[in-house]
Amino acid sequence: MTAAPSSDPRFQLATRAGLGRAITRAESTRPDHQAEARTLLSAIMPHTGQAQRIGVTGVPGVGKSTFIDAFGSMLTEQGHKVAVLAVDPTSRRSRGSILGDKTRMAKLSVDPNAFIRPSPAGDMLGGVGRKTRETMLLCEAGGYDVVLVETVGVGQSETVVSDMVDFFLVLMLPNAGDDLQGIKKGVLEAADLIAVNKADIDEQAARRAARHYETALHILGPSEPDWSPPVQLISGQTGQGLKELWATIGRHRQQTTLSGGRGRRRAEQQVRWLEALIAEGLSQGFGANPEIADRLRRTRDEVARGVLPASMAAEDLLALFFGHT
Ligand code: GDP
Repeated sequence: MTAAPSSDPRFQLATRAGLGRAITRAESTRPDHQAEARTLLSAIMPHTGQAQRIGVTGVPGVGKSTFIDAFGSMLTEQGHKVAVLAVDPTSRRSRGSILGDKTRMAKLSVDPNAFIRPSPAGDMLGGVGRKTRETMLLCEAGGYDVVLVETVGVGQSETVVSDMVDFFLVLMLPNAGDDLQGIKKGVLEAADLIAVNKADIDEQAARRAARHYETALHILGPSEPDWSPPVQLISGQTGQGLKELWATIGRHRQQTTLSGGRGRRRAEQQVRWLEALIAEGLSQGFGANPEIADRLRRTRDEVARGVLPASMAAEDLLALFFGHT
């Protein structure tokens, strides 16, 4: 890599250690760190947005880590730089979990062209580390052209992840085809591709499962006007189907870029994110105001007893809040 002038804000993101430090700053709640992170984020904005952003979800045990390890390694061999952001809303992951990710993704974790980062579960928005988006931007400015955002399907995490990526990949097990009820409808609706994983175990069963998912997707209709989500067989363990999967992601990129759908999707995601942050900020400010908190406690009781209509109570509380800000 040619040495960037130090005035280039990307300079400090050029090494994995530097990128890690910048992400830690962005995740920090300290006001001075926050201010620093904001300055950096605005400076790097023009250098973001080029990556292929891919969400990966599936139940625990479906083979996400094995798949990401193999898929990510295939991509770095092709010359890509791959960032993996692991979102796990079930546990408060800390530094220790980075070790966990090292064993989960043995090959990728020692790959100089890969960067693995767990997103902290604390301070959550919609069950997903709220800083994952900023982390993604920092990775993009750091030169990572593929960002994989992995999430275990808990709570709203898939919805939130699908709302920050260009392509949402749902991994399924070959034996789950008969049991479509077990799959959240929202996940199928958000899927840009369903990959039946572990196809190496029993190809026949995997094909049967694929037909079930194809039928389900057909009933739901296309996820976007310019894309009908396909179903493909893969194996993270043997590498079967991974080249074809990357080709499909490329085809999706090409098609949605041509149609304008990709740009629209990103623009809508940005606006929804803005609105979510405003709503979160307002509700935090609301709860942090002691007078309002006190009034709210009493009001809740009155509303519960039917003494006060909820609409009137809300109006009063909001008037009090806005009078205070
Ligand atoms: P995760 O919980 O979704 O991250 O799943 P893991 O990647 O940890 O995989 C769970 C188990 O399934 C492990 O024992 C893996 O070795 C195994 N596994 C993962 N992918 C495959 C695959 O493609 N084929 C086979 N046969 N086993 C797999």
